[in-house]
Amino acid sequence: MEEPPRFRQRSKGFATKALHTGQDPEQWKSRCIVAPIITSTTFEQPSLDKFGEFINGREGNPTRNVLEKCLAHLDAGEHCVTFSSGTGAVMAVVSMLKPKDHLVCSSDLYGGTTYLLRKHCEHYEIGLDTVDPTELDQLQKAIKKNTKMVFIETPTNPLIKVLDIAAISKILKTFDSQNIIFVVDNTLLTPYFQRPLDLGVDIVVYSLTKYMNGHTDVTMGAAITNCPKLEQKLKFAQVFSGIVPSPFDCYQVNRGIKTLAVRMEGHAKNSLMVARFLESHPLVERVLHPGLPSHPQHKLAIRQSFGHSGIMSFYLKGNKDNTAKFMKALKYFLFASSFGGPESLISTPTTLSHAFLPAEEREKLGITDNLIRLSVGLEDADCLINDLDQALKLSQR
Ligand SMILES: *Cc1c(COP(=O)(O)O)cnc(C)c1O
Repeated sequence: MEEPPRFRQRSKGFATKALHTGQDPEQWKSRCIVAPIITSTTFEQPSLDKFGEFINGREGNPTRNVLEKCLAHLDAGEHCVTFSSGTGAVMAVVSMLKPKDHLVCSSDLYGGTTYLLRKHCEHYEIGLDTVDPTELDQLQKAIKKNTKMVFIETPTNPLIKVLDIAAISKILKTFDSQNIIFVVDNTLLTPYFQRPLDLGVDIVVYSLTKYMNGHTDVTMGAAITNCPKLEQKLKFAQVFSGIVPSPFDCYQVNRGIKTLAVRMEGHAKNSLMVARFLESHPLVERVLHPGLPSHPQHKLAIRQSFGHSGIMSFYLKGNKDNTAKFMKALKYFLFASSFGGPESLISTPTTLSHAFLPAEEREKLGITDNLIRLSVGLEDADCLINDLDQALKLSQR
């Protein structure tokens, strides 16, 4: 074998220096104003049998803690557990159910949630009934002896139905020995516009991907509760299913939250202007926005929430062909799923979020080819209205 070439001898300890110089864990007590992104996956422990606040990055992370504290507080809740997506948060909640339990959910849930609940309940032999809880007696009748959870969203998407959270909670309390867990997905309104825990809900779920982060650049979720037992179960799902968010994403959402109030005011103002414009337009059949007095649950909406976000829907006059022409003519509304970012988006539930439902089931729900869902963004309202106006004209060509 050939000898390696004999270069100069380097002084000893290079690798050790690279690992330890300036890196003392004790020093991280700076008084920075913005929460730092702590990426460390493990934390030095004070002694053999005494552990610090953080042990490993999956169980706990300082950047994540900052966000969880803030989110719990915004909902006037005690505990918040974050997840790597909104779907992860929903999964953590439904994983509390056991075979032979029964779940009642509302119709017109987020498409991904409907799909998840159906598949999950089928696989684990959990009973599942879907009701339209705008009819409260439908909900009451659906409750069985083994019902362990009720899962709703309000307002619903894309049909923008408003459900009476306090009334549903009151019904569930009459089955008091059953301890039915009442879950509300509050993604559409955020705690800025609606606080379900105050209305008798046990767990509030969020896709932080939407308004809470608000910049179309993070996928993340959260669940908030006042009940320590439920918190333990959520925490178990977070840590031991490993569906944890990254410290960077936690930082991003924490940053987004700082402007939640002003962003939501902007979405609310723009969406109401757009809704009023569309309602007055001859090429629009019907507009679904809780801020309009024509909305079937307008009175409930203004009693229950503090405002409405940028999510709304409308029925265009015409068929799929007119819908396609309308969408193609738009300049500012981008055709994409999801919502809650500053950019205005438009989607067609029949081909995007609800494509997995059989056509007749969609028809029955009112999800037809001329139903259009808008996520009204933060552009100038005039630009949005002019854009819709010109595209409506072209839709009938
Ligand atoms: C988007 C959304 C979800 C799923 O969230 P992801 O972060 O995309 O997994 C759940 N519920 C509602 C109401 C949503 O809009």
